[in-house]
Amino acid sequence: MGTTRQFNCKQLLKELTDYLDGALDPEARIQLEAHLAKCPNCWVVCDTTKKTIQVYKGADPYPLPEEVKSRLIKALQRRTGQASQA
Ligand SMILES: [Zn+2]
Repeated sequence: MGTTRQFNCKQLLKELTDYLDGALDPEARIQLEAHLAKCPNCWVVCDTTKKTIQVYKGADPYPLPEEVKSRLIKALQRRTGQASQA
């Protein structure tokens, strides 16, 4: 086993955006996913980043009913202290 490129956490974070963009070469992607599978910390970071990117791109991975969505937004606003004083 000579050619395995093991990702550590630091490398993974560096490559993460390329990975999520699909810009990473297949071999590196496999190594990255292997790290994700055994590193819960990086998995969470990856998952969060992925969702953030999807939101920014406007691609909603989970189509939510409007009611649920507005409740979610309100909850987020409360958490970030931006609730409008209606
Ligand atoms: Zn890690």
